[in-house]
Amino acid sequence: MRKPIIVGNWKMYKNSEEARKLVEELIPLVKDATSDIVVCVPFPLLHVVQPLIKGTNITLGAQNVSWEDEGALTGEVSAKMLKDFDVKYVIVGHSERKRVFGEKCREIGMRAVQAVKNGITPIVCVGETLERRNRDAKSYIKIQLLEVLEDIEDISKVVIAYEPVWAINGIKPATKEQAEEMCAFIREVIKEKYCEEAADVVRIQYGGSVNSSNFADFMAMDSIDGGLIGRACLDAKEFSKIINYQDK
Ligand code: PEP
Repeated sequence: MRKPIIVGNWKMYKNSEEARKLVEELIPLVKDATSDIVVCVPFPLLHVVQPLIKGTNITLGAQNVSWEDEGALTGEVSAKMLKDFDVKYVIVGHSERKRVFGEKCREIGMRAVQAVKNGITPIVCVGETLERRNRDAKSYIKIQLLEVLEDIEDISKVVIAYEPVWAINGIKPATKEQAEEMCAFIREVIKEKYCEEAADVVRIQYGGSVNSSNFADFMAMDSIDGGLIGRACLDAKEFSKIINYQDK
């Protein structure tokens, strides 16, 4: 059985004081959760959140990592630096990184490799735009996956997030059937590239306009093992309701 994993992506929100308030409110609300819980915070908040969640069931994550060990790479942050803050997960290839910052799949793959090399689990995002949705969504997702995972030998060290670009930051999520179809397809691609056992263990999340009213429906689907949550993770009560989806 795959343990569910629920990840909040804070994006570029919250200052230190707001971060402290959010985390302090969240901790008691999710203390009995049975899923893995991760908060992916902006780099300058790692040192704020790390001591607050120490000894709790919440794990620290970051929102990107460099593909190099170190070097003259202004604005980048290395895996070694993230490890200093006990970061256990890092998002790579979020659609905002691709759309706004021009990140490409091969580079994202190198970031993922660097994370794995340093004992950090990359959360590898894949997803299609609306235009692709109506054209060749599956083959597009397959190309993305194979490029990003090209140098990943052990897929159990990776989490995959299926995030249709048209559902992120929107008003409407994908339907649970649309999300399931693509997550099942991703599992097929993993089976082809690795093996059946690998496809059985890899955790695949859905992300895109998830909230406390719709999350349980996604989690009831066979191939969906968790969620990558944007807006709804910025409010402790709402995020805790998502995390405690089984109580619904
Ligand atoms: C995201 O940015 O990864 C995301 C899923 O955002 P939202 O939940 O706000 O759609």
